[in-house]
Amino acid sequence: MDGPLPQARPIPKSSDHLNGQFWEHCTKGKLCFQRCLDCDTWRHMPRYMCAKCGSDQWQWKESSGKGRIFSWIITHQAMHPKFRDETPYAALVVEMDEGVRFVSRPLGIANEELAIDMPVQVIFETIEDDFALPLFRKM
Ligand SMILES: [Zn+2]
Repeated sequence: MDGPLPQARPIPKSSDHLNGQFWEHCTKGKLCFQRCLDCDTWRHMPRYMCAKCGSDQWQWKESSGKGRIFSWIITHQAMHPKFRDETPYAALVVEMDEGVRFVSRPLGIANEELAIDMPVQVIFETIEDDFALPLFRKM
């Protein structure tokens, strides 16, 4: 059989170098973001240059994994067959303590409980042997 079944959970495997490194860290249970070596600014999504100072000098740094809910939406229509039974589900924007904003989903937080500024902490859900998804639970 060629490729995954349509019902298989979509996995954000990327051939892109920087995105691939981001997901490798997640699979090791580490939420890492890039940090500029010249101005110390954290960034996400992964990219080669600092948006603040233009430097191309950076390194991966492990996040505290802690943040607060900045925003969310409730999805009522599954955009993939795998998620049909999970609707309505929330997609979060978490503002991490490091300042970057990260899109994810809650784990163990009912949609009705979601609140702006709710403190949350990353937790990794292993999807496959070589892939773990960063989700957020209440602190
Ligand atoms: Zn910079």
